[in-house]
Amino acid sequence: MACGLCVPLCPTYRKSRNESDSPRGRVALMLALAKNDLPVSTSLESHLSLCLACRTCERVCPSFVPYGDMIVSARAVLAAAHRDTGRGRPLHRLLLNGFIAKPANLRLLGRILRLYQVSGLQRLVRKSGLLKWLGLTELEANLPAIPGPQSFHGVYPAQGERKGRVALFTGCVAALADPETLRATIRLCNLLGYDVEVPPKQNCCGALHLHSGDPDAATQLMRRNIEIFSGDGTEALITAASGCGATLSEYGRHVPDDPAARSFSGKVFDISRFLAEHGWPENLAFKPLPKRIAVHDPCTLANVLHGQDKPHALLKKIPGAEIVPLPENHLCCGAAGTYHLTQPDMAHRLRADKIEHLRRLAPDVLVTSNIGCALYLAAGVREAGMNIEVVHPVALLARQVRDPRDEIRE
Ligand code: SF4
Ligand code: SF4
Repeated sequence: MACGLCVPLCPTYRKSRNESDSPRGRVALMLALAKNDLPVSTSLESHLSLCLACRTCERVCPSFVPYGDMIVSARAVLAAAHRDTGRGRPLHRLLLNGFIAKPANLRLLGRILRLYQVSGLQRLVRKSGLLKWLGLTELEANLPAIPGPQSFHGVYPAQGERKGRVALFTGCVAALADPETLRATIRLCNLLGYDVEVPPKQNCCGALHLHSGDPDAATQLMRRNIEIFSGDGTEALITAASGCGATLSEYGRHVPDDPAARSFSGKVFDISRFLAEHGWPENLAFKPLPKRIAVHDPCTLANVLHGQDKPHALLKKIPGAEIVPLPENHLCCGAAGTYHLTQPDMAHRLRADKIEHLRRLAPDVLVTSNIGCALYLAAGVREAGMNIEVVHPVALLARQVRDPRDEIRE
């Protein structure tokens, strides 16, 4: 099928106007690669690498072409060709295999980065030109302010009438860079009447490995997570990063030989969906917030988890807040996992459009449900000199919620 319905919605096609950078063109390339009609070449690789794997094309495809699965398989073929020839991206591999896949190393990296930021070394290094020489300018510019070490584990008990128990998937980057959102997630679930269990020794969800052409490493991470979260008694597995949530929700497809993978995936809830669908207690109100709040819809929340309406609905509970969607929310912001590091030019062009929309909307706050989008958009906001806070919608809700115990004390 080649109806072309997906073509005008593809962010990379809209920029390049090249059919080979459109979903239809890439599907043709991937099919030719699979049939050995086309060899691995620089040109083929450039078109497939430029894909964001945002899956907007998959959502609108009337023929249900499984684009997400196809691009994962094609990238695995390309990565294998690199391994055979000894080429590849050593820094990228070190980041994924040395840190993202190893939580203890990632925590250590977090402590080093915090020291780098608070000691003043960051300013010196930025001025020295060393980052440019090492090719780390882009990576370093996207670094958020790393908070002090935080740990989440054990069971956080429900408040008020107990309704059940959920498990929390913390996510590797989110646990390091955005503990506020995890605290907010636990607090709101507790206020809704749910115990929150945070199993120790969780792993990365596998998304970054999967999209970088290393499905074997991704599957290993997935198998370990399935084991870690296999305890009885939890009715949902909550995630506060839609990028992780999208991958967790598809473990059943990625690990088809493990019967537990399907039930694991069936329990996955993005936190906004869980809060919106699990009966908000009547005594739980919000403090007013007279601010304009722009809502960004991450691709993973819209195209895979199909829950992009939930943050908007929840934020409308805050009195006085003006909730406005970021225009062109169906187009990727350019973050896309590690895409903004491997394809910085296209990523910058896509983010520049978001920054322009923000300039016109002039919100006080930008909310987004995915840590990768949040970090990348926040770096763009900083670079543009704009005074807009970028925060997870659930963190904003938790800041405004009135704790029923405070009402009693008042
Ligand atoms: S996944 Fe996104 S970038 Fe890739 S072809 Fe589909 S719409 Fe275009
Ligand atoms: S991928 Fe789907 S929407 Fe795109 S051209 Fe093919 S059939 Fe049409």
